[in-house]
Amino acid sequence: MVIVMKPGVSQESIQALVAALERDHGVSVGVTNGVGCSILGLVGDTAHIDMDKLTMNDDVERVMRVQEPYKKANRKFHPEDTVVDVSGVPIGGRDHFTVIAGPCSVESEAQITGVARDVKAAGAALLRGGAFKPRTSPYSFQGMGADGLELLLEAKADTGLPIVSELMAPRYCQLFEEKVDLVQIGARNMQNFDLLKEAGKLSKPILLKRGLSNTYEEWIMSAEYIMASGNENVILCERGVRTFETYTRNTLDLSAIPAVRRMSHLPIVVDPSHAAGMYWMVEPLAMAAVAAGADGLMVEVHNDPPCAKCDGAQSLTPEKFRHLMGKLTPLVELMGKKLV
Ligand code: PEP
Ligand code: MN
Repeated sequence: MVIVMKPGVSQESIQALVAALERDHGVSVGVTNGVGCSILGLVGDTAHIDMDKLTMNDDVERVMRVQEPYKKANRKFHPEDTVVDVSGVPIGGRDHFTVIAGPCSVESEAQITGVARDVKAAGAALLRGGAFKPRTSPYSFQGMGADGLELLLEAKADTGLPIVSELMAPRYCQLFEEKVDLVQIGARNMQNFDLLKEAGKLSKPILLKRGLSNTYEEWIMSAEYIMASGNENVILCERGVRTFETYTRNTLDLSAIPAVRRMSHLPIVVDPSHAAGMYWMVEPLAMAAVAAGADGLMVEVHNDPPCAKCDGAQSLTPEKFRHLMGKLTPLVELMGKKLV
């Protein structure tokens, strides 16, 4: 962190500020006296220093951070890619590509087990299914709740696919700890900091979706919350962001893949389904995500999309999903990776 002092501030005032910073924050401060103004360079852990408070000091002209506010998620302090183990299925690293597939919502035993068998046969490594659904309208289908998790477990027993489902509230943490292999935090809850802290106490890995209008740094800071609470197994998921465009449900931000890869060592997967909102756009966006270097995909697949209780318009049929996987596989190999 760098503090630029106002012109003409006395050396006594500067020394008083230096002493206070060293005493209160345990940093060491180097002073550079230029013509007319002085600059303080703070070295050490400045993450806890409140920049706004420093700016309120009448002797201070400007305060700048020179390092990112995230530590545990930062690529700088952890150059190697993190590989997250989801009940034996790896996500991340340079060698493999992992596909998560399944319906938006669990609807019945026959539906989830049928889709699980189909996506497994097509090459998916993990089964997704929402049991607790974050819906814009309180009158829309809210999900099957805990019963939905039981049906996911039946599909897991049938196919061997580990399961992914969304956790919406801290009160369900224990339930998810017991039942789910990969705990999803949805876009709408990306900055629900209480939920993030509780997710950080779970032993299960976390799939953290990007918020509807959040920057890369805000997203990584949310991962930092989970990691700072003790859970370092975090996977980031780009699912499109809000823009001025209304044709698509969201705008898939492909730049997030190389950017986040540079900023963080955490794996990044892409959800083309929620980005597009339309089934026919899922395949080209999925291919683009592979080419841009994503670690995996999360794709919505439904046995009967027109009758789906949630997100039918963006869901692939099992046949279309099989077609996607067929197209994807050579591209994954071209990228030097293997489908898990
Ligand atoms: C979902 O994956 O079903 C979902 C609700 O996604 P998002 O949080 O990205 O909207
Ligand atoms: Mn959905």
